[in-house]
Amino acid sequence: MTERHQKARADLRQWQESQPTNFYTSNHQLQRLLKRLMAPERFAQAQNHLESFGQVAAGPLDQAAVINNRHWNLPRLERWSPIGERTEGIEHHPSYHDCGKAIYEDGRVISVYAQSPANLHAQALFYLSSHVGEAGHNCPVACTAGVVKALAGAGSKALKARWMPGLLTNDYSQRLDGAQFLTEVQGGSDVGANTVRAVPDGESLGTTRWRIHGEKWFCSNADADLILMTARYEGGPEGTAGLGLFVVPRLLEDGSANHFALRRLKDKLGTRSMPSGELDFNGAVGYAVGLAQKGFGTVMRYVINTSRLYNTVGCAGISRRAHVIADGYARARRAFGRPVFEFPLMQEMLASTRSTSAALMAGSLELAAVADEAEAGRLDASEQAFLRVATNLAKMRSCQHSHRVVLTGIETLGGNGAIESFSVLPRLLRDNVVYENWEGTHNTLVAQTVRDFARHRLHEGFLAGLTARLEAAKGLSKPLAPAFETIERTQHALVQMADVRDPGLAALMLRPHAEALADAFFAASYATDIAQETDPTRKEAETEALAHFCQTQLGQIPATRDRAYAQRIHTIASLTD
Ligand SMILES: Cc1cc2nc3c(=O)[nH]c(=O)nc-3n(C[C@H](O)[C@H](O)[C@H](O)COP(=O)(O)OP(=O)(O)OC[C@H]3O[C@@H](n4cnc5c(N)ncnc54)[C@H](O)[C@@H]3O)c2cc1C
Repeated sequence: MTERHQKARADLRQWQESQPTNFYTSNHQLQRLLKRLMAPERFAQAQNHLESFGQVAAGPLDQAAVINNRHWNLPRLERWSPIGERTEGIEHHPSYHDCGKAIYEDGRVISVYAQSPANLHAQALFYLSSHVGEAGHNCPVACTAGVVKALAGAGSKALKARWMPGLLTNDYSQRLDGAQFLTEVQGGSDVGANTVRAVPDGESLGTTRWRIHGEKWFCSNADADLILMTARYEGGPEGTAGLGLFVVPRLLEDGSANHFALRRLKDKLGTRSMPSGELDFNGAVGYAVGLAQKGFGTVMRYVINTSRLYNTVGCAGISRRAHVIADGYARARRAFGRPVFEFPLMQEMLASTRSTSAALMAGSLELAAVADEAEAGRLDASEQAFLRVATNLAKMRSCQHSHRVVLTGIETLGGNGAIESFSVLPRLLRDNVVYENWEGTHNTLVAQTVRDFARHRLHEGFLAGLTARLEAAKGLSKPLAPAFETIERTQHALVQMADVRDPGLAALMLRPHAEALADAFFAASYATDIAQETDPTRKEAETEALAHFCQTQLGQIPATRDRAYAQRIHTIASLTD
């Protein structure tokens, strides 16, 4: 090996050693943000927990997720027990359970729902676990949170008593985890086209027992203990109004497998450690969660909104990790005799990943805090409108951003960026593609926003909430100018759209504004967060990051590429934690 080889390898080792051993303590912004968003007692209580889980996530969880995602360790369908009993089981590599133990026991991401308020605390933990991608369990955690909320909010006493203790335990071996199956082969966005049927069949568990018949086409966490699913209740109308929401246990009360069959597991691009299958329900026993006639409302309120928030926070975690990997690499890797960090073109890439991941972190966790306020009944109608619209827009935009951030990270690593064994970035990119699709495609979310604006006038509360947030970020109105202009442009567009009766055309007209509104929200959250910074040098650098985010995402004209611009990207890229 030549001296040059040795030096290059030493640089790569330096990059590896630069990577954080704790995703929480190495993240100054996250600590500042949670200190502001959490009540002081809750912050004091959460601090130790986040600190210890930050270490687990950066260490054992990260390592187990790598092993678990190797294609020879992926889950396999094992439908029968050794002695020929039908189990519809899935065999996992031991590293899958290592990830699960870390997330359920060290992370306690689900068991914090036993306390109230819980969204922000749970999402802060989920943000940390998402640094390692989906990891086989982050989708199940989001689904389980939906089951917890649906049962707590709409389930009967009997159903709660039967399953809540298992759902809320942090003992991984004893836990009950959840899944949520809506999609059928004829359409996922068009849930009203569902045909799976539910037929009443006597009583058990002190309530009506239903039998579920039909096929579900996309079933993630396919070996979950409790499936929350939509099915058409007998005698109901067409469309979403005819959908009930049912909880279907994997095992019947006598311990035998419920009446469904796992047809096959899907061979997926991303989230590969987590099994997604196709299921046939052949008279499976289930129980309605709330009134069957209100199933669609229940699933939207408790399940889909929860999953969309998890998705957004997950994308923020993925972005942060990609930025940190790229940042460390650029400082260690040399080309043309100097660290590649020193090239302004590289600083521009890092300024972009840094400012975007910072804005996503602030916005996604602020949404979790607002969700806590909503659950505590402290939001007026206007703020409720804000939460609903912001959740949908943030879900759409966050994964578009994280996709770009991970790609930029991969580009930073040059050829090594494309190598699975070199870093987690290829896996983060693949997971992110799935995040873009499930819980509502981009188009579906824009279409829903158009409906919300036209039918329920939710733009009024949303724009009022956004304006109030931007105005509250005192002293940062200059960098936020493009965000204020976004609101003006949207108001103008809404006037032009007022007479448009074709929802497809209205969605087409709204789309660029929908993306810009999401960015204005992320910018407002980040500005409010920066306002708390006490170190003036850092505050100045982060204000530049905010200005960069606003100009690159919301600016009407490309930023002028002069010396001042070069200085700005250098300042942002030089932020070290
Ligand atoms: C790995 C993976 C796991 C999944 N796990 C689950 C699960 O556990 N449970 C579950 O229920 N689902 C799951 N899904 C399904 C997912 O939620 C759906 O794929 C998604 O909702 C989109 O539905 P679809 O695939 O039927 O696409 P379609 O609805 O057929 O959409 C096709 C295209 O048409 C566009 N489109 C649809 N409607 C409109 C409109 N009104 N305006 C403009 N464009 C429109 C979409 O944006 C998309 O580009 C999973 C998907 C994946 C990839």
